[in-house]
Amino acid sequence: MNETGVTGWRYWQVLTQGYLGGLHTPHARQPWYPDGIEAVCNQDRDTHAPDQAPWPDCECGIRIMPRLDDLLDGIEDHPARTGITRRVWRVIGGAGYYQDRLMHGVLDVPDVIGQAIGWGRTEDACPWDDPPGTVRVQHARVGPVIYLSQHLARMAPAIRRRYPGTRVHVGHERGLPWLDEIHASQQAVAEPSS
Ligand SMILES: [Zn+2]
Repeated sequence: MNETGVTGWRYWQVLTQGYLGGLHTPHARQPWYPDGIEAVCNQDRDTHAPDQAPWPDCECGIRIMPRLDDLLDGIEDHPARTGITRRVWRVIGGAGYYQDRLMHGVLDVPDVIGQAIGWGRTEDACPWDDPPGTVRVQHARVGPVIYLSQHLARMAPAIRRRYPGTRVHVGHERGLPWLDEIHASQQAVAEPSS
């Protein structure tokens, strides 16, 4: 355990009014207010209290991946572990949400991929629940850059109002090609042509 802050990557769904929210319990559909959210444990364990998340041998904590490539690989290669599966949209969004995603060809990607800033207690990945490269943090807020899937471009103004310190890039692609677009964009940031 340490108290070091970490900037990483993660994904969200777009909630009403432009808030971003997690996909998984206990943070599913909970708005990420601009000052951030705090992890809670809902595993009903006797080793630690709900407010002691993340805990070493548990599934609790807010997920962040320091390397973008780990997140993109996780979505494509470990859909059951990252939770970006068709079943997730049926469970969390309901039948109407699932049909909307099906129509737009985005059953396999999240709504938003971007940077998050984590702080407080930090733990390594849950070995049975997280794809490689994951860390779990106690507190997190939306970071300086996020990418919005093209099919939700209409939500960009509302998202910008909620997170005024965050640059919102609207994708030109949708579905898995959108992941390649994000990767290329970040490569351009890392290796600017002179
Ligand atoms: Zn726990």
